[in-house]
Amino acid sequence: MQINSHLRPAVFLDRDGTLIKHVHHLCSPEQVALEQGASEALCLLQEAGFVCVVVTNQSVVGRGMLSVEGLKAIHDKMEQLLSTQGARVDSIYFSTHVPHTSDLREVEYFDRKPGPGMLLRAAQDLGLSLVKSWMIGDSISDVLAGANAGCKGSCLLKTGLYSLECQDCSQISFLASDILDAAQIILRQDSISI
Ligand SMILES: [Mg+2]
Repeated sequence: MQINSHLRPAVFLDRDGTLIKHVHHLCSPEQVALEQGASEALCLLQEAGFVCVVVTNQSVVGRGMLSVEGLKAIHDKMEQLLSTQGARVDSIYFSTHVPHTSDLREVEYFDRKPGPGMLLRAAQDLGLSLVKSWMIGDSISDVLAGANAGCKGSCLLKTGLYSLECQDCSQISFLASDILDAAQIILRQDSISI
């Protein structure tokens, strides 16, 4: 893959169990609560020059449990909570596909993690360098989406959907206790200048 110096590095962030507390089939803005350290992590990463892009699987929409407008209301609430703490995300991508497999490692849809589609689309839209970018999430499907997109590395969080079964995956670069720990790990690995 060609490395274009004008392309920006990104950190791709899972939503549920990473930026906000994991709630099974979250369908209401009232259920949105930030994970500890989320705002600080975003601020640290953006100060260091990383574009922060949320990539989230939202099969609740495909299942007919939530409209796209309802999903946007949830994201508005998340961004409102972040802004009260002086933080923001740069962009949000979501996939509405409903999986038929329970295997989190199987790419069933290009756009649904572990498929790389959302990350590739964001890279195209926002001028991002995938080889300079990282993925943070609490599921093996997050780690694999980053790897399938050609990211530099990944941090798997020991929150939310994390399980010990994930530890046998060679694509995990680092295990982190939470999103802030992951951000600090990435910053230690990267001495980037924009
Ligand atoms: Mg998650």
